[in-house]
Amino acid sequence: MECRTARELLDAARPDSADREDPELQAAFAHVDECDTCAEVLEFRRGFDRRVGEIVRDVPVPADLRARLQQAFAPMVETPQPRPAAELTQRHVPDSD
Ligand SMILES: [Zn+2]
Repeated sequence: MECRTARELLDAARPDSADREDPELQAAFAHVDECDTCAEVLEFRRGFDRRVGEIVRDVPVPADLRARLQQAFAPMVETPQPRPAAELTQRHVPDSD
């Protein structure tokens, strides 16, 4: 398997999970186990993702974010959002106004 193919296949895979048993990913995992360059690249990407995740979790969500997103995406939405989805969102995004 080529390095590029292995890296593309494993970009979203989790090495310490059932992904290791996924038949479609096994050849890619086998490649990375033997290829130091790919192992290094994937480890760097995972570290980067972990760090971005940590930073994003620490950023407070602006109180008016939902309204701003709805306004921004309104022109792209052809049909109105179904009610249950809107209610679900409401439960998960606390309003501070
Ligand atoms: Zn490689």
